[in-house]
Amino acid sequence: MAHNDIGDLPLDDFRRTGHEIVEWIADYLENTEQYPVLSRSKPGEITAQLPDKPPVTPESLASILVDFQEIILPGITHWNHPNFHAYFSTSGSIPGILAEMLTAALNVNGMLWRTSPAATELEEVTLDWLRQLLGLAEGWDGVITDSASMSSMIAMAAAREAVEGLDIRTKGMAGADIPLLRAYISEQTHSSLEKGAMVLGIGQENVVKIPVDAANGMDVAALETAVLQDISEGKRPFFVCATVGTTSAAGVDPVPAVADLAQKHNMWLHVDGAYGGMAAIVPEKQYLFAGVDRADSLVVNPHKWLFTPMDLSACYTRHPHILKRAFSLLPEYLRSAETDAHTVRDYMDYGVQLGRRFRALKLWFILRAYGQEGLISRLRDHMRLAQLFGSWVGASPDFEGMAPIVFSTVCFRAHPQGVDDEAKLNQLNEALMDAVNQSGEIFISHTKLQGKYTLRLAIGNIRTTERHIQQAWELLQKRERQLWKG
Ligand SMILES: *Cc1c(COP(=O)(O)O)cnc(C)c1O
Repeated sequence: MAHNDIGDLPLDDFRRTGHEIVEWIADYLENTEQYPVLSRSKPGEITAQLPDKPPVTPESLASILVDFQEIILPGITHWNHPNFHAYFSTSGSIPGILAEMLTAALNVNGMLWRTSPAATELEEVTLDWLRQLLGLAEGWDGVITDSASMSSMIAMAAAREAVEGLDIRTKGMAGADIPLLRAYISEQTHSSLEKGAMVLGIGQENVVKIPVDAANGMDVAALETAVLQDISEGKRPFFVCATVGTTSAAGVDPVPAVADLAQKHNMWLHVDGAYGGMAAIVPEKQYLFAGVDRADSLVVNPHKWLFTPMDLSACYTRHPHILKRAFSLLPEYLRSAETDAHTVRDYMDYGVQLGRRFRALKLWFILRAYGQEGLISRLRDHMRLAQLFGSWVGASPDFEGMAPIVFSTVCFRAHPQGVDDEAKLNQLNEALMDAVNQSGEIFISHTKLQGKYTLRLAIGNIRTTERHIQQAWELLQKRERQLWKG
C-alpha cells in the first residue's frame, strides 16, 4: 500500500461530504413528517441487506451515504418526528446537533481536568446554570452521565457509601457481617432503580416496592410500615427514591413526606426527575418540587425534555464528597500536579467510567441558543398542548382520561359508551394503539394502570405544534370508530 493510502481521508472529502451531510440534515429536519414515525422494518430485514463480512478495500463516502439512505433510514424510528408521542419524546435540536459535530471533531476525553480543562470547567458551569434554572440552592453539585439509569445507580452507590461502618468499597459484601441493606421505591418507580440495586449487590429482593395511591404517588403510610417492619427484623433501610414525573403516568410522589421519613430513619433520599424534573424550570410548576431541596441526590435528563440530543443525564447531589468517596481511585499513570494540589476536579472520580465524552458542549449550546425564556416558553407550550389534548379526551363520549395531567403526558383510553367489560376495553385499546402506530402517522405507547390498558401520549419534541396534536386526535377517533363500529 502506498504511503498516501494510510492516514485519514483527504480533507477535500470531508469538506465535500460534510456540506452534503449538513444539507441532508436540514432537509431531514424540514421533512421528517414524510417518514413513518415507527419504522416498518421487520426483524432481520436490515441485517439481511448488509454484507456479513467487513470490506477488505476502501469504499467511498458517497457509496456509504447511499446505503445510509437506502438501508439504514428505513430501519429508523423517527424520534425527531413531531408526532413521536411514545415513551417520552426527545429532540435533536439545531444547537444540539451542531454541538455534537464539534464534540466529534474535538474528540476530547474528559477523564481528568488536564485532558481538557474546558471539558471539565464547562461541565461545572453548565451544570451550575442548569441548577439555577431548576431552582436548586447553591451547594448542589452535578456530574453528567449517559443516562438516568447510570445517574441513579451512582447515587445509590453514594448512598451505600454513606452508611457508616460498612466499607463495602474495600471489603465487598459477600461474607461480611453486615445487615441486609434495603432500598424503597414505589410500584411506579422506573425499573432502572431496581437494575442499579442488582449491579450494586443490594439484590432485587431488597428493593421494596411501595404501593401507590389513586393519583399514582407513593403511599407514605405504607412506606413507613415497611421501613419499621424491616428495622424490627434487623435489616438496614438505606435508600429511598421519590419520583417527580413517573414513567407510566407522570405521577408525583409526595416528596416532603418521604423526606421526613428519610430523615427520621437516616436513609438517603434520591429524587428521580429524569422526565418531570425539567418542569422545575417553569415558575408555575415549581410547586411540584417542594421538598426536593431536602433530597440527597436528584437526576434530571436534558436528553428527555430539554431538547438535548442523546445522550445527557445530570446527576446532582448535595454530598459530592460522598459520591467521590464511592468512586475515586487514582492509579499512578493518572496522577497530575494539579490533581495532587487539589486545585481541580477530575470527573473520573465521580462515576464508573474513566473516559468521558464532552457532553457539556451541547448543553451549553442549548442553554445559550434558547435562553431561560425560550426554554420556559417551549416547556409551557408542551404542557398547554397536553391539557388541550386532555380536554378533547374529556369531552369525548368514546374516550376517557386515566390520570391527572401534570406535565406534558396524557394517559387515556378508548371507552365507548355503555361498555363496562374491562377485558374488552383492554383488547380495544391494544388494537387501537397498533392501528394508529401502523399508520405511520403517529407513534404512541401504552402502560397498565390498575390493570387497565392505558394509552400514553407524551409531548416533548421541539417541533411539535397544535396541528400535530390535532392530527393525532383525529386519527385516534377515526381508528376507534373503525375498530368499534366496523
Ligand atoms: C426515562 C426514565 C428513566 C431512564 O432514563 P435513561 O436515561 O434512559 O436511563 C428513569 N426514570 C424516569 C422517571 C424516566 O422517565
